[in-house]
Amino acid sequence: MSALLTVEEAQARILALGAPLPPENIAFPESLGRYLSQDVVATRDQPPAALSAMDGYAIRFADLPGPWSIAGEVAAGASPPRALGAGEAMRIFTGALLPDRADTVVVQEDVAADGAALTLTGDGPASLGKHVRARGGDFAAGTLLLPAGTRLSPGAIAAAIMAGAPAAAVHRRPRVAILTTGDELVAPGHPLGIGQIPDSNGAMLAAMLGDEAAAVGLPLHARDDRTVIADVLKELARRHDVIVTVGGASVGDHDHVQNALADAGGAVDFWKVAMRPGKPLIAGTIGAAAFLGLPGNPASAFVTATLFLLPLVRHLAGARDSLPALRQAPLAAPLAAGGERRDYLRARLDAGGLTPFATQDSGQTFPLVAANALLVREAGAPARAAGASADYIAIA
Ligand code: AMP
Ligand code: MG
Repeated sequence: MSALLTVEEAQARILALGAPLPPENIAFPESLGRYLSQDVVATRDQPPAALSAMDGYAIRFADLPGPWSIAGEVAAGASPPRALGAGEAMRIFTGALLPDRADTVVVQEDVAADGAALTLTGDGPASLGKHVRARGGDFAAGTLLLPAGTRLSPGAIAAAIMAGAPAAAVHRRPRVAILTTGDELVAPGHPLGIGQIPDSNGAMLAAMLGDEAAAVGLPLHARDDRTVIADVLKELARRHDVIVTVGGASVGDHDHVQNALADAGGAVDFWKVAMRPGKPLIAGTIGAAAFLGLPGNPASAFVTATLFLLPLVRHLAGARDSLPALRQAPLAAPLAAGGERRDYLRARLDAGGLTPFATQDSGQTFPLVAANALLVREAGAPARAAGASADYIAIA
């Protein structure tokens, strides 16, 4: 038997199936979750000049403890009417430009104004520059704020806008087609005949992709027929960047995906990975599209989508780090020794640590409800006591 690919080898080969898609500029409000196609470098200083951080009065620190004469006012977005003279204060509001020669702000709660006279009633500012935001204190022009490949979070969107970017320069998101296969499967909610079950993987995969992909249509379904599957694959390859099938990935009499891929003009890059669940994964290409054939058991589909499909989709969408992060947590219970292949055990992580579920039957759907972690157990790993550290991948 030829050696199975390791998960890491399989991931590297899958990411090599396609390059990040071309860049496009989109409006910031639509850019959440997209990946930057170029660095965001600040084209401006923020703040652009010294600003007040509070409502109060701009003063010169040397003039403390006052009193002052009030020399006008300045609000956010306005120009200060003039520079501050000795013994003068200027009414100022949060975000307003500090007048020339002012260096400190006294908050309005610490002073009393009577006409043009201002006196200190509280402690006043403790130090020179108090309540003043310096020019460039957030960032200076030329600062690299967000490297290419960064996922745009709400905060990153705000920073890119503040940096002066007119639009989000991101990669196009991949168009992904999901094709479920199996004679026993019936569309969700439809009546079931003898031996039939609802097709849950299609919607599960679509949900896992979420908005990482563009235009994931409704999952399609084909019966266990080599010709039908080949025809559908051929058609899908014309309009998609990624085609993912689920089910039929082995070599049973009713597993047709691998042959259908060949019939459709596609090519297998590799088949099978040293992991459990998920061993019979197929990776390849068809036309310009990347192809993944996931095994049909619900947990197998879930684990292989986590480890391979989502990284592929994120990679094509321009992500810098597309692979799931490996984290560590203590075991809440003892863990038996590892077997022949690396295990991705469905588990629950809580304050007490990681607890793998007693049942690891990949055919079960219900454990996926409570699972929030995949506990990674290496092949041949020795048994471990509760409290020992274990690797895991966080899952939604
Ligand atoms: P297969 O990979 O086709 O051998 O399927 C393995 C197991 O997963 C079988 O018990 C199938 O009935 C089940 N299965 C395959 N596809 C799906 C699906 N889309 N939804 C739910 N279960 C599925
Ligand atoms: Mg099947």
